Amino acid sequence: MTVQMKNELLFGARFLLRDNALTGHYLRQLQRNARLDSEQLAQYQLQRLHHTLQTAIGRLPYYAHISPAFSVAESAQVLRQAFPIIGKEQLLAERAALYPGQGHKRPWQALGKTSGTTGTPLDMFRSLRSVLLEQAFVQRHWSWAGYHAGMTRATLRGDMVTPLARQRPPFWFWNRWAHQLLVSSRHLTARHADAIIDRLAALAPAMLQAYPSTAYTLAGLLQQRQRRLRIPYVFTASEPTYPHQRELITEWLGAKLMDMYGMAERVAFATECEHGELHVNTDYSYVEIVDRQGLPTDDFGSVVGTTFHNDAMPLVRYRLSDQTRWKPGRCACGRAFPMIERVTGKYEDSIRGGDGAVISPSVLTFAFKGVHNVLKSQVAQVAPARWEIRVVPGPQFGEPDRQQLVHNVHALVDPTVEVQVVLRDELPNTAAGKFRWVVNEMPAHG
Ligand SMILES: [Zn+2]
Repeated sequence: MTVQMKNELLFGARFLLRDNALTGHYLRQLQRNARLDSEQLAQYQLQRLHHTLQTAIGRLPYYAHISPAFSVAESAQVLRQAFPIIGKEQLLAERAALYPGQGHKRPWQALGKTSGTTGTPLDMFRSLRSVLLEQAFVQRHWSWAGYHAGMTRATLRGDMVTPLARQRPPFWFWNRWAHQLLVSSRHLTARHADAIIDRLAALAPAMLQAYPSTAYTLAGLLQQRQRRLRIPYVFTASEPTYPHQRELITEWLGAKLMDMYGMAERVAFATECEHGELHVNTDYSYVEIVDRQGLPTDDFGSVVGTTFHNDAMPLVRYRLSDQTRWKPGRCACGRAFPMIERVTGKYEDSIRGGDGAVISPSVLTFAFKGVHNVLKSQVAQVAPARWEIRVVPGPQFGEPDRQQLVHNVHALVDPTVEVQVVLRDELPNTAAGKFRWVVNEMPAHG
């Protein structure tokens, strides 16, 4: 079978599964939720939470000892008092108790997988409703930028749409079902950039869906060529988005960035609005932010979430390693969804300064102020108070750039760490085509 035919079948089937009349029905429901005020939203949340907890008690042996005799109004209190916070470790160790059907998936359930960037991948069972609703939530976010089905979009993520070895265009696949140009991010290199940029310029999509790292690579290639694209909106997801990426993407793609925070476990979903604020979609799941002791905090803490829409496998108080903080007040956009600070990354990937305190990745980006000729970079903690800055150098990269990097770290980030700049030919992506800009490689960390 040709690649073209394979793509037609794959993306045609995916379109039928995800973008059908039922998704449209769910989307209209979600649009109604978005018009609720805070009180009505809170009421809706309690109803969904009650439903999830009852389902969990009824279906999962792990919760079988909890009495289901509580009302909708008591749900949040029961959640905190009777349901422990669980993590990936529990899901792996107690599969028979925390998965439905003793951990055996039924044929009608969909299988989801976490990417496993920081260790063991997990699988998730999903109901059809959960699969469709996920798509409807994504589409509701798109609608914040005025994008709706039928408009043209380009996608620059991990999809393998053309063989890696391919040396001539097309490095993309036109998915006519969804009016979507899927571009192979593996071919986004100096060698093939012109062909890809020409194709995108000719398409003039209403929006680009990308990983922050792939959009950033595209922006860098545009900058090298001093060419600009005009794509009104770039929707990023799946990796943390750093300020240096945001800046370059906004400038060279001419785009407004609309970031999305979600995960395969589907316990939290937050979407960036036109005003640059990240809103927790409270009709998606029940989100808590807790400290290291598992207590609610107004400071930075871990995201803990309870699913609302997946009866095939309810996840209750599932702890993620993502760190963020509630942001008080109301957004100028008027939406009732509460705000959080940008999710800067996984706890395992946090980098620490000379005094052992976590350094925000946003602060780390200062290291690259005024540094030129860097094609790609990565900051790694290799030992206590020791960082390695890995650089894929451009042709003009020289000693002044290296010195500037080291100087910046000491002047703008942390004067006490030892920094080494290491040149690399390539900085590999993960198997899913994602990229980790900040990594902590100390043994036994996290
Ligand atoms: Zn807003």
